[in-house]
Amino acid sequence: MTQQENLECLRKQALEDIGRAESLAELDVVETRYLGRKGEVTQLLRTIGSLPPEERRSFGQRVNQIKEELAAVIQNRRNELSVVEISTKLQKEALDVTLPGRFFQVGRPHVLVETLKRIKDIFIGLGYEIVESPEIELYKYNFAALNYPEEHPALDEQMSFYITDDCLLRTQTTAFQHRVMEKRKPPIRVCTMGKCYRVDAVDATHSHTFHQVDCFTVDHGITMADLKGTLHQFAVEMFGRDVQVRFRPDFFPFVEPGAEVAVTCTICDGKGCGVCKGTGWLELAGAGMIHPRVLETVGIDPEEYTGFAFGFGVDRIPMIKYSIDDLRLFLENDLRFLRQL
Ligand SMILES: [Zn+2]
Repeated sequence: MTQQENLECLRKQALEDIGRAESLAELDVVETRYLGRKGEVTQLLRTIGSLPPEERRSFGQRVNQIKEELAAVIQNRRNELSVVEISTKLQKEALDVTLPGRFFQVGRPHVLVETLKRIKDIFIGLGYEIVESPEIELYKYNFAALNYPEEHPALDEQMSFYITDDCLLRTQTTAFQHRVMEKRKPPIRVCTMGKCYRVDAVDATHSHTFHQVDCFTVDHGITMADLKGTLHQFAVEMFGRDVQVRFRPDFFPFVEPGAEVAVTCTICDGKGCGVCKGTGWLELAGAGMIHPRVLETVGIDPEEYTGFAFGFGVDRIPMIKYSIDDLRLFLENDLRFLRQL
């Protein structure tokens, strides 16, 4: 094959390759292969010296012609390809604003945590200081200091989780009372809340682990009227303005007199329904005036000071509020249930 034939062959091959390039990157490769500094057309120009002198001029001209032709064809192909690439890119990145949004599940506090926070806020609003108290408690604070008689059934090993003979998981948040009174002098107005434990089979209204709130006040001239006012205010803030509070005599070793506190059933507004067993009332708390003997054991003179105390189950509150009849639902972590609250 002569040099001229070689050249024409190369031109044909180059035109085919340019036509086949499907992207700008591919086209760049083709351009370098033929027209680059070490490209095939450029190389051919360098062989000009091996030609007979009379052919050199026309060969040189033809090479330059082909170079220009190829450069123009490449430029055209490049223009075509950039239009295609831009529109593909636009299509790929197009945003359909009419599509429905993606739904992200956002977590939130558990209903019992929310309830504890609400209770805390109410008592802080009433001037109480919230104190921490241990879940592993001494027998002394959990029972003895609270005036429990030796034969009281609550002291039975079968009823409480004992860790050692004088150490147990607290059965009531009331255990913190003596701890506080040992360290402070009246006026005292404190509140604690948290988990309590009792040996109990789990059913709709009982659990081995539950939450309690306990508050007590000791000061000059504290009376049953203060206790009633405080609990009434709490009930109003928790359940709404229309709620009524009922006190009936009850017995707890650490108070005298003691009372069982109930609120009007929020489901039937006191008319009587299945949840309140037709009575129109729902039991809320145990309360009373702190027993003089309890005050004496910490060196507070019961002649000079009086106090009231009350405690209630936290888990009961959302049950009352949302008319839930099974305590276990709170702890089973079924999101279908928890998301409704
Ligand atoms: Zn009712």
